[in-house]
Amino acid sequence: MANELPNRLSPSRSADFEQCPRLFHFKTILERPVFSSQATAAGRLTHLVLDELFELKNQDRSPVEAEKLIEPSWEVLYNPLKSRQAEVGSPLESQIRNRKGAWAEEILEGTPEATRAAFDVRDMEILAPPNSLAMHQILKDTRRFVKSYFKHEQPELVDPLGREVHLNCEVEGVQIHGIIDRLDSTPSGDLIVVDYKTGKTPRADQLDDRFSALKLYALMVAQNYERAPVELQLIYVRANVGNGIKRLPVTKQLLETAGKDIVELRRKMEGAIENDHWPATPGPLCPYCAFRNECPEGRAFVPDQQWTRARQTSTAIRPVPRSTMPGRPTSSKTSATAHRRPVIHEETSVNRPTKSRGAGRSKRPSNTGFWVAGIVTGLYLTGHFQNLLIGVGAATAIIYAGSKVREHL
Ligand code: SF4
Repeated sequence: MANELPNRLSPSRSADFEQCPRLFHFKTILERPVFSSQATAAGRLTHLVLDELFELKNQDRSPVEAEKLIEPSWEVLYNPLKSRQAEVGSPLESQIRNRKGAWAEEILEGTPEATRAAFDVRDMEILAPPNSLAMHQILKDTRRFVKSYFKHEQPELVDPLGREVHLNCEVEGVQIHGIIDRLDSTPSGDLIVVDYKTGKTPRADQLDDRFSALKLYALMVAQNYERAPVELQLIYVRANVGNGIKRLPVTKQLLETAGKDIVELRRKMEGAIENDHWPATPGPLCPYCAFRNECPEGRAFVPDQQWTRARQTSTAIRPVPRSTMPGRPTSSKTSATAHRRPVIHEETSVNRPTKSRGAGRSKRPSNTGFWVAGIVTGLYLTGHFQNLLIGVGAATAIIYAGSKVREHL
C-alpha cells in the first residue's frame, strides 16, 4: 500500500487535509475511490455545460442554447470514452480534451488516467443508469442551475482568456497543480479568476474559507502569466439575483499568505506521513464525507437525525466495483453491462435503488390510486353492510397494503 504524498498538491487535496487529515488519508494516500452523488453529478454536468456555452458565438449564449447543451454534455459525463467518436472541433471534442487534458485514445492504455476514466464510466453507470430516476433528477437539477446562472452573468458580454485552464506552479519546492474553471481578461488586460459553484451560497463569515482554493489559483496565474490576477470570483449559480457573484480583490499580501499557507500545509502532511498519524477532525461537513461509515469520530459528532437528513442528499454509498479499483482498468464489456448488476444504495428519498426492468423503467403505482381504491371500496362496503366500521377497516387495509407494495417496488 502506497504511503506517500503525491508530488503535486492540488487546491482540493489541500482543502481535504485542512478539513480533516483522515479524510485526506482515505482519499489521497489510500486512493480510495469516491463515488459521485446526484448532487456532485449535477454540479459536474453544470460545469460542463457552462464551459461549453463559451464555445458558442457571443450572441448565441442564451438560456435556450444553454439548455440544448445539457444532454450532449450528459453523454460526455456519462461516458467520456464515447466522445472518441466526436468530430474534431465539435463541442464534445473540446469537452473530452478539456476534461481529461488529453485525447481519449491517448489515455486508454493502462495509465492512471485510463483507470480514472474507466472508473468515471462505471461510477455514472451505477449512479444513474439510462432513464433512471437518478438520471432524470440530475438533468432536472442541471437545467435549474444553468437557467439560474443567467441571473448573475451575461455570458454574451464575456470573452474568456481560457477555460478549464490547467496550471502548475512551485512555491519553495512545493509543486501545485490546479484547473481553473475560467480565466477572464478585462479590456485593460487585467486577469480575473472565475470559479462556478453549484452548492449553497455561503454566509458572509464562511466566505474566506470558500476562497481558499482560488487564492492558490491566484498564485498559479501570477507565476504562469507574469502578472497576478486582480480579482477572484466565485459564481454561485443557485443564488438569488444580486447575490450570486462573490469577489475578492487580489493583493500582494493575499499572494504571500497563500504561498506561506501551502508550504506550511505541505510540512504538516509530511509530518503526518512520517508518523502515520491521520487524526479525524470532525466538523459540519462530516455528514457529506464519503468515509463517514468508517469513521467513529465523524459519526459520533453528528446527531443521528442530521445523518439521516444528510444521507438523503449526499453521496450514495455503493460497493467498490473491483474492476474500477486503481490499477484495474475496466474492460469495455464490463462497462457496457455494469448497469445490469445489482446495485446497493443507501435507501434515500432522492436516490432510491432503481430495479432494472429491461430498457424501460417501470413506474411505481401512485399513492393516489390506492387511496381512491380504498375510499371507494370503503364506501361500497359501508353501504352494503350498513356498517361504517367495516368500510373504514377495508379502506385502511387497502391504503396500508398499497403503501407496502410501493415500498417494495
Ligand atoms: S467523517 Fe468527518 S471526521 Fe471522519 S473522516 Fe470524514 S470528515 Fe473526517
